[in-house]
Amino acid sequence: MNVLIINAGSSSLKYQLMNPETGDVEAKGLCERINIDGRLTHKVGDKKYVKDIPMPTHAEAITAVLDILVDPVEGVIKSTDEIDAVGHRVLHGGMKFSDSCIIDDTVIKAIEDCIPLGPLHNPANLMGIRACQKIMPNTPQVAVFDTAFHMTMPPKAYRYAIPTEYFENDDIRRYGFHGTSHKYIARRAAALMGTKDFKLINCHLGNGSSLSAVMNGKCVDTSMGLSPLAGVPMGTRCGDIDACVVQFICNKYGMSVDECLTMLNKKSGVLGMSGVSSDFRDLEEGKNNGNADCAMALDKFYYEVAKYVGAYAAAMNGVDVITFTAGVGENDCATRKAICEYLGFMGVKIDDEKNQIRGEEMKISTEDSSVQVWVIPTNEELMIAQDTAELVKAAK
Ligand code: AMP
Repeated sequence: MNVLIINAGSSSLKYQLMNPETGDVEAKGLCERINIDGRLTHKVGDKKYVKDIPMPTHAEAITAVLDILVDPVEGVIKSTDEIDAVGHRVLHGGMKFSDSCIIDDTVIKAIEDCIPLGPLHNPANLMGIRACQKIMPNTPQVAVFDTAFHMTMPPKAYRYAIPTEYFENDDIRRYGFHGTSHKYIARRAAALMGTKDFKLINCHLGNGSSLSAVMNGKCVDTSMGLSPLAGVPMGTRCGDIDACVVQFICNKYGMSVDECLTMLNKKSGVLGMSGVSSDFRDLEEGKNNGNADCAMALDKFYYEVAKYVGAYAAAMNGVDVITFTAGVGENDCATRKAICEYLGFMGVKIDDEKNQIRGEEMKISTEDSSVQVWVIPTNEELMIAQDTAELVKAAK
């Protein structure tokens, strides 16, 4: 079976053609500068093809992807009939979606209804879906939502302590994101443990970071909120912040709320604190060269992640397994070590040698640690492909 995975942004579109059974990626690539001019970068194994192709809309981008996938030299399939299904990453499913689903008109309408909650991403995701429907009308399309895994949270975790009318009338609540990654890690951890019945805290630490508390396979809390701005500090996002900071900055600097939020989303986090970079490799280099701002940004990050782990251990009355994933979580030994040092009080002990691992699955806790600590590389594309394949097979 071949699943085409599409992640459409406002001017870009990432794709992968994957076998959901084996996880083998046959081809992958990126369309950029949609609405501007258009460029396709296509990769098959270690071969890379770059082409300038006019892409006035997402439809031309999808056509370019399908054309190159069936190209006799650069492609990997003979005909688009060999694509059994398309899986679309969709940012916000609001309260309407607690799982992935096959796309029909009702689903499209529901994704449209969620635009106020995901104003930047949902319209772009819809453009990707509509373009595929137009060009591949007979191929089943599946929507996989970044929020869906977190829909099992209880009200005490997802409600904000603001007047109930905003929840009842406007669906304002915690949703959480990176759900596809958290779900993938929860499943992989369950496979490693040989059971679903354990308490897991997953630390998805990348350019965007979020943690989730997972009990017996179900999410009970997560650090992002109505939007991905909440939670721990990130590459460029501030994470949790007192709402009065927004009022203060807007008043003092004559900024609009939108301008202030752009600053909190794009210029804050470890980039804002260090003034150097959002990339943890640069921050560590800065710290090692005596840059106090880089050291401060890293300290703040370690501290806030450790605080969330402590909070989630309390929320679940214990924790059996802690997992690290995503760019920083998979690769950054110094970050994992610093976070785990805070957790010594709960019996977390990591093995410094095993912790040197980068980008590979490995248990990094010692045998006498009271909590298992693992590095598990995430694979959101595989999760999307598997969800898509399951739904399409079940519908046949
Ligand atoms: P992601 O958003 O999951 O793709 O993560 C991207 C981030 O991972 C980058 O911005 C870096 O901060 C971080 N990263 C990637 N590789 C390394 C590494 N070897 N050491 C430290 N941080 C890394």
